[in-house]
Amino acid sequence: MLVAVTGGTGFVGRRLVKALLERGDEVWIVSRASTADSSQANTKLHYVTWNELATSPDRLEGMDTIVNLAGESINQRWTSAAKQRVLQSRIDATARIAALIRRLNQKPESVINASGISAYGSSYTATFDETSPINVIDFLSGVVEQWEKAADTIPVKRLVKLRVGVVLNKEGGAYPLMTLPHRLFAGGKLGNGSQWLSWIHLEDMIRLLLFCIDNHEIQGPVNGSAPEPVTNDTFGRALGLAIGRPHWLPAPAFLMKAVLGEMSSLLLDGQRAIPRKALEHGFTFKYPNIESAMKELTNKS
Ligand code: NDP
Repeated sequence: MLVAVTGGTGFVGRRLVKALLERGDEVWIVSRASTADSSQANTKLHYVTWNELATSPDRLEGMDTIVNLAGESINQRWTSAAKQRVLQSRIDATARIAALIRRLNQKPESVINASGISAYGSSYTATFDETSPINVIDFLSGVVEQWEKAADTIPVKRLVKLRVGVVLNKEGGAYPLMTLPHRLFAGGKLGNGSQWLSWIHLEDMIRLLLFCIDNHEIQGPVNGSAPEPVTNDTFGRALGLAIGRPHWLPAPAFLMKAVLGEMSSLLLDGQRAIPRKALEHGFTFKYPNIESAMKELTNKS
């Protein structure tokens, strides 16, 4: 299979590229920089920059699929300039893919476009699946709405909008930061602790991406989160138990807002999303619940 991955140098993308190469696929990483990653040296791995594609779109003739994971990280202080970059980088990357495909003679069969579970807004009581409407209530849900609108203009037979939850892995992403208070014996619920966390283990995220690439029946919004979301309090308790640290010191919402500003919504708000479509298409999670994920995440080997 021929697969192009934008954001193939990132937290999720690097592992996806590795998994694709391991199963024998040929991969093109689309990046802002032209520097090749020597740790992934492989004759089936190629690099192309966005700028090169603008003048030579034919470099991506004949792809089976394009996976779009590109976007400015949200893990930074949400100044108005940073927020603009978070939004614009996603819209631009998606619009560039749409423009590229229009210029190709042999178009890909599918595009898997990353999106976010924050599409559904935030609720303590509701459960969301892919039939739930997008609900713009804050910055991130607004980003996702515009990101998906841009994706809808991609001229492709099969478009998957993978609404990703918080991706957990011990070596990167949000997890090492989320565990820091517990590791310092200062762990406890954040705010009132009842906010939902729709999470997915990185290994399942990669398996789900491969599933979406391979499964020609799956399209439209797909929730990329484990079947058993947890509240913030449950997550903290499971973490404390797994690493032998107390879960006792609550961090009040006002304090988190004062320290983190608008970005505190990442920790104080949340949504309970269920991966109905993936399950209905037969996807099985290796880490369906937080206990199984914690066992792997806290395993030192
Ligand atoms: P990363 O933050 O690791 O970034 C992915 C890639 O995006 C980078 O490697 C970089 O590629 C490219 N990029 C970064 N900044 C910009 C920019 N300003 N303009 C254009 N491209 C940029 O992302 P993840 O791997 O963590 O996530 C992949 C996708 O999944 C993202 O779109 C993210 O929003 C989404 N997602 C991730 C979640 C998570 O928990 N990780 C949760 C929800 C959604 P290069 O330098 O090669 O151009």
